[in-house]
Amino acid sequence: MKNQVSYQGMDFVPYITRQTIDNRIAELGQKIVADCKASDPEGADVPLFLCVLNGAFPFASDLFRAAEDLDAEIAFIRLKSYEGTASSGKVKEVMGLTQDISGRTVIIVEDIVDTGRTIHNLVQQLKERGPKDVKIATLLFKPEALMCDVKPDYVGFEIPKKFIIGFGLDLDGLGRNLNDIYILKEVKENA
Ligand code: IMP
Ligand code: MG
Repeated sequence: MKNQVSYQGMDFVPYITRQTIDNRIAELGQKIVADCKASDPEGADVPLFLCVLNGAFPFASDLFRAAEDLDAEIAFIRLKSYEGTASSGKVKEVMGLTQDISGRTVIIVEDIVDTGRTIHNLVQQLKERGPKDVKIATLLFKPEALMCDVKPDYVGFEIPKKFIIGFGLDLDGLGRNLNDIYILKEVKENA
């Protein structure tokens, strides 16, 4: 872990270590396996992990393998933004989902739920395809920022409404390859 990282003149300091992230993902993986086996003891349903690119790829990679005791598949989607009406704001369309999800359990894998708009739109669109269940796994969750009716089922870490980077999370594309998570340094006045 680095003492400090800087992008675009902004300084970030260590916040969550890779070791802590690894331990938490292992726990989430076990929880998902246990829940899926409890709801489908016969193993008739093959759950689909749905990784939302770009940010969720390191989390999805680790979480999927932490659930190795489950017969499951993984797929990757992108959300394409386009301008909707002024009232509905930005609507995001699912790109790249070719799998048939009807009658299946889908586990959305996200890096972070902030206002919840992204995930809310995604859940609505997936439900139109007739899945058995849609669950949300997010590495990070900012409950204070939530503005939608969204309740993540699996949360790595609840964090305050602050900007973070690393382990998939970026600042304008940079910082995703940091192994640990860093938080924007508070600028102290009169310092
Ligand atoms: P939403 O507000 O829940 O729709 O979050 C949308 C997206 O904002 C997330 O998927 C991230 O890509 C991005 N985001 C939100 N908070 C942060 C952060 O602290 N760091 C980096 N990206 C963030
Ligand atoms: Mg994202």
